[in-house]
Amino acid sequence: EAKAAGRGRYVFFAEHMDDSIRHRLDVERDLRAALAAGDEMRVLYQPLYSAQAGKITGAEALVRWHHPQKGLMAPSTFIPVAESTGLIEPLGEWVLEQACEAAVTLPLDSISVNVSAVQLRNTKFAERVFEILDLTGLEPSRLELEITETSFIESAATCQPNLDLLRKSGIRIALDDFGTGYSSFSHLCHFDIDRIKIDQSFVNAIDVREGGSAIIQAIVDLAKASGMQVTAEGVETSEQRSFLQKAGCNSLQGYLLSRPVPLEQLTGMLVRSKGIRIADAVEISDLE
Ligand code: C2E
Ligand code: MG
Ligand code: MG
Ligand code: MG
Repeated sequence: EAKAAGRGRYVFFAEHMDDSIRHRLDVERDLRAALAAGDEMRVLYQPLYSAQAGKITGAEALVRWHHPQKGLMAPSTFIPVAESTGLIEPLGEWVLEQACEAAVTLPLDSISVNVSAVQLRNTKFAERVFEILDLTGLEPSRLELEITETSFIESAATCQPNLDLLRKSGIRIALDDFGTGYSSFSHLCHFDIDRIKIDQSFVNAIDVREGGSAIIQAIVDLAKASGMQVTAEGVETSEQRSFLQKAGCNSLQGYLLSRPVPLEQLTGMLVRSKGIRIADAVEISDLE
């Protein structure tokens, strides 16, 4: 009996492993094809709002994959495969180009693009970014690259030359998902970072955890004392919003304010908001 159960378990486990390997290979093959065909990937844009005035000041590019059989796939299902196969490089550059091209015509202070540690480790990365800026005509000061803490921990030495080149050109660097990595606070002192993005897990803790708001306040105060801007991610309730405003965050991002939207919709939101010039509005509304 025990033997049978044991064997059953083994078979189950083996099948399960087999599935995950097959899944990974499927994703890799399909991702390669998608990048070659070029019509399954989309970039959505989630607006960033100034905390005080509530105006759209920027937007974050977030990639989506419309798989012909599997439908809409979230980044968490394919970014890890893209990273382990090197496909993150062409994918990341494509997203960057789309985002820069979009930002040139939009009345945004800046456009934010996520960068994987794998990209940052390539000694040619900064050069590729400069080529894309040249190609699209976007000012370096209007581009913000979002990097996670793992980039710093796992490969600080290999990433540093790229980061130096990027910052020297005027591109800004944001530390994404702040607080989820280990020794987060030591990074604030050791690297030139323009902005931190407080992870949504901390924002959620404002409502539920005793002391949750004290932690956020401490993060905001420390970042500001170090000369950094602060964005809070994953703002879902008006209670969270008013706390984050009072705490001194510079900008807010989250479903309460807007979900990630297609470019046409972002354009429409900007046209309707007061910050836009009439001449731009006429041009842009033609696109809708
Ligand atoms: P991230 O850069 O931290 O992006 C924020 C994620 O939180 C996005 O998920 C966004 O849709 C989601 N989000 C925004 N507001 C809220 C909210 O109020 N509540 C909740 N529950 N979620 C919210 P998404 O688009 O699924 O992306 C997940 C992650 O995938 C991103 O996290 C980023 O690390 C990665 N990613 C997305 N696009 C790219 C890309 O082009 N390149 C690279 N390297 N990574 C990307
Ligand atoms: Mg991000
Ligand atoms: Mg984040
Ligand atoms: Mg994240």
